[in-house]
Amino acid sequence: MEKCSFCGRTKRETQLLIAGVNAFICDICINQAHEILHKETHKQKSFDPKNLTLLKPQQIKAHLDQYVIGQEMAKRTLSVAVYNHYKRLVQPDSEQEEVEIEKSNIILVGQTGTGKTLLAKTIARVLNVPFTIVDATVLTEAGYVGEDVESLLTRLLQVADYDVPSAERGIVFIDEIDKIARKGDNPSITRDVSGEGVQQGLLKLLEGSIVNVPPQGGRKHPDQATIAINTKNILFICGGAFDGIEKHIGNRMNTKLVGYGASKENQKVDRKNLIRYVAPQDLKSFGLIPEIIGRLPVLSHLMPLDREALRNILTEPKNSIIKQYVKLFAMDGIKLSFDDDTLDYIVDKALEFKLGARGLRSICEEIMIDAMFELPTQKLKTFKVTLDYAMQKLSDTFDPMLKVA
Ligand code: ADP
Repeated sequence: MEKCSFCGRTKRETQLLIAGVNAFICDICINQAHEILHKETHKQKSFDPKNLTLLKPQQIKAHLDQYVIGQEMAKRTLSVAVYNHYKRLVQPDSEQEEVEIEKSNIILVGQTGTGKTLLAKTIARVLNVPFTIVDATVLTEAGYVGEDVESLLTRLLQVADYDVPSAERGIVFIDEIDKIARKGDNPSITRDVSGEGVQQGLLKLLEGSIVNVPPQGGRKHPDQATIAINTKNILFICGGAFDGIEKHIGNRMNTKLVGYGASKENQKVDRKNLIRYVAPQDLKSFGLIPEIIGRLPVLSHLMPLDREALRNILTEPKNSIIKQYVKLFAMDGIKLSFDDDTLDYIVDKALEFKLGARGLRSICEEIMIDAMFELPTQKLKTFKVTLDYAMQKLSDTFDPMLKVA
């Protein structure tokens, strides 16, 4: 009679019995074996600094260059920061060492759609430490509706498969950090639920301490089990648009530039791109508390994307928007191409909507949606997107704001 060679169950006692060369295995044993396998591989995956491959900063940047256009400063800063993070992880036990490498959390400032999240996502691909992107806007001060600051680490724990030592060496990208800036100078009128209180909470994580993390995220309950995580070696990269920070930069620079020799220096200032002069004081004027700023010692900026950059973004990156459409159509056997003036037109429109590269995708979608709907059932072998076609598809009432995620 056919029965499982592992547990001896007969065919009737199982849901499925798979036959091998000289043996059988049932569904129950397959499941058990799978669990054992999972546990064993999980054990091996546990963090070991010796397994880290140390990519050099230039190698990291070369990888970023394939996907992110421009933003040299930010790319260099990030590459160095990640490299140093790795070095810190492989340094011998700190107690016997005279010089201990401390972590340098990073803050990236730049308008929306200039590539902050893209940089973070791209760097994640070359990392072999756990990495996660979290949004600061969901956080509120303890006691209010929203998530506790500690829940930022839940995601990290999840990507590390709940392996605490591994999570404790990970990297967390906190997006929209500017949204927790203090709203006004007088906190006593209304409580600043999502502002300074959250910053105080965040401070604890940034400076390195043992934090109790709810394994499932959300709010902590008194009776909920938590997992203790030491954030000493977790690298935090913060990003934010800091809308209107140019005003603070301008004010600071104006006061500095008044007086002897001012006019001469003034001429050299790139007034259109004040963001390149961003300094920690400006973050403070914007509403970040000095303690937080002190814990984010590496400050870098992303430049607004000009016409040339936007044009390059359409076609150059390894998975550029245009390359993606070409691939989609190729899967239907259609050779897709875009006229040069069509691409220029898309860029013009994106500039008009002031959404950085974010506008490019929604404009392209609007132009391509009909073709994507109709062409797969037609017998076309080639399709060229001309300027006339694009202009006709992009209606006057099109508003990318309604489409941007
Ligand atoms: P941010 O986080 O700065 O608001 P994102 O990184 O989310 O902006 O950018 C939105 C989209 O725009 C990205 O998915 C990417 O396709 C494109 N993009 C933005 N900046 C760049 C850039 N410098 N190079 C290439 N693509 C970019």
